[in-house]
Amino acid sequence: MLADAQALPHLARHDGSPWHLHATDPDAPLAERIRVEVALAFVDVIRSGETDRLRLCEADECSGVLVDLSRNGSKRFCSVRCGNRMNMIAFRERAARES
Ligand SMILES: [Zn+2]
Ligand SMILES: [Zn+2]
Repeated sequence: MLADAQALPHLARHDGSPWHLHATDPDAPLAERIRVEVALAFVDVIRSGETDRLRLCEADECSGVLVDLSRNGSKRFCSVRCGNRMNMIAFRERAARES
């Protein structure tokens, strides 16, 4: 991905932000900039041995993927919507069992 985009990581400091990495020209198309940012993020994830933080959403009938950035690595759903939906299903199942 980085080679395809001819990414050239370099230090940048602008608009009051501290030193950080840029790898594309500021005039590159947005999709290209996002692709390079994602590729750089993958580099860090793989390098730090955290690939188990890349997961499929556990909700029924969802094919979403997620990056678990929680401190204890406990994130299970791709979105609040999926989390709420699965909580509702679990709640209904409990209520049905109890009645
Ligand atoms: Zn910047
Ligand atoms: Zn989901």
